[in-house]
Amino acid sequence: MSKEINLLEKLSNLFGPPGFEDEVRDFVKSELESIVDELKIDVLGNVIGIKNGDDRYPTILLDAHMDEVGFMITHIDKNGFLRFNPLGGFDPRVLYAQKVVIKGDKGKVKGFIGAKAPHLLKPEERSKAVNIDELFIDIGASSKDEAIEMGVRIGSVGTFDTVFAKISPNRVLGKAFDDRAGLATMISVLKRIKDKNYNVIAVASVQEEVGLRGARTASWQINADFALALEGTAAADTPGTPEHKRSTELGRGPAITLADRSIISHPTVVKGLISVAEERGIPYQFKRVFVGGTDAGVIHLTRAGIPSAVISIPSRYIHSPAAILDLNDFKHAIDLVQGFIEWISDKYVK
Ligand SMILES: [Zn+2]
Repeated sequence: MSKEINLLEKLSNLFGPPGFEDEVRDFVKSELESIVDELKIDVLGNVIGIKNGDDRYPTILLDAHMDEVGFMITHIDKNGFLRFNPLGGFDPRVLYAQKVVIKGDKGKVKGFIGAKAPHLLKPEERSKAVNIDELFIDIGASSKDEAIEMGVRIGSVGTFDTVFAKISPNRVLGKAFDDRAGLATMISVLKRIKDKNYNVIAVASVQEEVGLRGARTASWQINADFALALEGTAAADTPGTPEHKRSTELGRGPAITLADRSIISHPTVVKGLISVAEERGIPYQFKRVFVGGTDAGVIHLTRAGIPSAVISIPSRYIHSPAAILDLNDFKHAIDLVQGFIEWISDKYVK
């Protein structure tokens, strides 16, 4: 497992807001290059790795997105403070007082998200959650000219400045587990099956967080028979969440989505996943709250329709500066995806 954890760590630390996935793309490319037969980067920047196997086997599309929630600089004031717009869905409560990193024209610049000082707030302001419009980024510049001299401009993008860490025997903390955990799963599976005769196409997609955009054009280019989107999904097993609202829980295995806002997972694929998990003794759980959407939402509507489902690694606090996941869930997600490829290839052999 140490190789897989190492892979997750490297992916988590990479910089990749929607539309600016370059660092992640270069890394994914270098990981897949030697284990697929063909590797291409499409117009939008999706990485498509094609592993050709026996013609009689169906073609399975695996998808994981490279982007993470981030922001774009929209204004620099005369004192050097930056205003920004989110790229992807944020709860504004998670932004205040966070360390961020911005990719400027001269390299990365560190900053901090500030707001009006608490002791200057009016009593009625204190009880309200801070609005994104009231937040700004301080990069230590004393003027607009200095900010520009540092390489930051309108249009520069950024994300949280969080470094991966193992915080307990089985749990790790890091940023962007949505969806670097899915990417790490996909790459690990490809490595495990590299000498097998299955037909698998791996898509590392762009711009999922702003509306499943990369997966739409990527899947159109691929005539897949089945598809799995691999995700980092929200775990809601923390204090204050009633039992029936616990979408997924850490340590109970990868989560199989039955339905969310973007897809009703195909029963054939879901049944296959359940029987693989049960036959092989792989723990699994269902995602039990039908919220959110994933790349599977657009993949299953491609061409004449592709039977699809989602497998997720539960992660607490996603879309925030850091998330926590359980390494056993990650390991079992790899086992489940590998098992599914073997099962469905044999079941639908021509
Ligand atoms: Zn995601």
